[in-house]
Amino acid sequence: MASDDARDHCLFCKIARGEIPVPPIAQNDLALAFRDIHPQAPVHVLVIPRRHVASLDRTTDGAELGAVMLLAAQVARDEGISVSGYRTVMNTGNDGGQTVHHLHVHVLGGRAMGWPPG
Ligand code: 5GP
Ligand code: ZN
Repeated sequence: MASDDARDHCLFCKIARGEIPVPPIAQNDLALAFRDIHPQAPVHVLVIPRRHVASLDRTTDGAELGAVMLLAAQVARDEGISVSGYRTVMNTGNDGGQTVHHLHVHVLGGRAMGWPPG
């Protein structure tokens, strides 16, 4: 079964394993942060759990989710947007606009964000 595991084909698992070389900008034991390939703001960082979790809907580990969110806040401080403010977004499922099915938090900043989201 291991050869047909979702983790084998998952883009963000490949990044987490280092199979796709994406420089980490921050990390902790449970989570990893790297820049989005198509930035939607001057700062656009993705924070993911190292372990494959398909979406927020499949999350059961609060410590892991906490590690992801704490790393997102650390990234915002490191990137210099914590004072000006920033947006954290977790798209879930089709209507949420999720395109990569490995849980991730977008950290967006460096410009004012609109509300409501489109
Ligand atoms: P979603 O639409 O699932 O919320 O967000 C997926 C994000 O992953 C998108 O913002 C997209 O630009 C980003 N992305 C997709 N492929 C890659 C990649 O290969 N490398 C990086 N760094 N980001 C990616
Ligand atoms: Zn994955």
